[in-house]
This record gives sequence, structure tokens and C-alpha cells, in this order.
Amino acid sequence: MDPPSTIVCVDCGGTCHLLSYAPDEGFEPGDIVAYRCEDCLDRWDVEMADDDPGAPDGHRS
Ligand SMILES: [Zn+2]
Repeated sequence: MDPPSTIVCVDCGGTCHLLSYAPDEGFEPGDIVAYRCEDCLDRWDVEMADDDPGAPDGHRS
């Protein structure tokens, strides 16, 4: 699975760019990927979610 190349900054609404490079085997759920906000320069560590749509209960739609 691949993380998005950018995310929206929770603090300022700016664009956060991916800092981490994918390992040879690719990212897996639970891996931490780092982003840097271009506006406030905050760093965000985001855990890769296991968002398998076929996953059993536990999540609201
Ligand atoms: Zn920001």
C-alpha cells in the first residue's frame, strides 16, 4: 500500500509533503510515515492505516 504523497496539515490547513521513502517491500499497515508541512514546518508522523474495505466489523462507515 502507498501513503498519499501529501496530506492536509491539521494545524494550519497547509500542504504536508511526504518525507519517508518506501522500503523495498513497500509500506505496510502500522508503519509510520513522516510528513513536513510547507507552511508551518511542523512534522507529522502518520501511522499507515489498515483500511481494507473487506475488514470485519469495528468501523463505522
Ligand atoms: Zn501546517
